Amino acid sequence: MSCDLIALANAGIRGLHPYQAGKPVSELERELGISNVVKLASNENPLGISDKVKQALVSEFTELSRYPDANGFYLKEKLASRLGVESAQITLGNGSNDVLELIARTFVSAEHEVMFAEHAFVVYPLVTQAIGAKPCVVPAKAYGHDLDAMAAAISDKTKMIFIANPNNPTGTFLSKECLKAFIAAVPKDVIVVLDEAYDEYVDASDRANSVEWLNDYPNLVVTRTFSKAYGLAGLRVGYSVSSADMAGLLNRLRQPFNVNSLALKAAEVALDDNEFLHESVSVNRQGMTQLTDFFRQQQINFIPSWGNFVTFDTGRNGTDVYDALLHQGVIVRPIGGYGLPNHLRVSIGTSEENNRFIDALTSVLSL
Ligand SMILES: *Cc1c(COP(=O)(O)O)cnc(C)c1O
Repeated sequence: MSCDLIALANAGIRGLHPYQAGKPVSELERELGISNVVKLASNENPLGISDKVKQALVSEFTELSRYPDANGFYLKEKLASRLGVESAQITLGNGSNDVLELIARTFVSAEHEVMFAEHAFVVYPLVTQAIGAKPCVVPAKAYGHDLDAMAAAISDKTKMIFIANPNNPTGTFLSKECLKAFIAAVPKDVIVVLDEAYDEYVDASDRANSVEWLNDYPNLVVTRTFSKAYGLAGLRVGYSVSSADMAGLLNRLRQPFNVNSLALKAAEVALDDNEFLHESVSVNRQGMTQLTDFFRQQQINFIPSWGNFVTFDTGRNGTDVYDALLHQGVIVRPIGGYGLPNHLRVSIGTSEENNRFIDALTSVLSL
């Protein structure tokens, strides 16, 4: 007897397409039989992992036969004191993706609408679709969030609004004044998820003190990650800061051991390694100048970015340029799936990596 498993799946899951991750270095090397590949495709930290974290991880190995601390006590304490909140307001996740999904699954069901901007981070439509809720995609303004249009689009059905600041893949940034005014205008029964995965790269003077806003807006939740500026993408650890009540709800659904022991340890040590963080931000700033100077010289349009990546217009089919770059051993990210078929996103690397990209793009576009 045959069995149509696809028909058996939840409707939301049937319509899902799997997440397209950046191509791994080993995969391209295997496919093309080349070495020395440069990956600038997943907004990873080009400095790798900090030496202090490496040492701490080695001493943690002996503990791996034990389950992790299900509450992540020490990491939450450290984050709470850093952020000026209570431990009970922190929710840890297997990357902030895990937390974003937890938040959506806690509040959204199939009868609701979830709002996000055109060209916004792909996890928002994915999780909305998985739940079977209705996406409300608000057209972008200059590639970024159009907050006025978003406020105007809120309806009785709107249950959650996702905002990435800076946004990925466009790198666009909303000023703290605009953002705060928007959050103040959102009805209190609509959850606002403010995804600040790239917060550490934003100049201190521009950065919003969004965690302070939690006192005034109990419907707000802020997410951050150790995957980018802290250089721990492979370990998977991120977190949210919210009211203690909201964290309590998320904790009901959270898998008890969603953050592994190595990730907990690494994140604790990384939080104290200010030197590495500053170096990461400084390398990013230099690399951003290197790449945007090149784009300007070559009159390649790019979207000004506040993150650790830049999205630029290839002036032709982006996937063709992406493929040609692969053959030069450089992996970037096509973003046709974000409604930007002619653009590519390049993560900022070390200056040598950026030069490899610049040389490869110059040859591919025959500049
Ligand atoms: C990279 C990224 C994340 C974080 O991913 P992790 O799961 O923490 O690795 C979240 N939001 C945005 C917008 C991102 O670009």
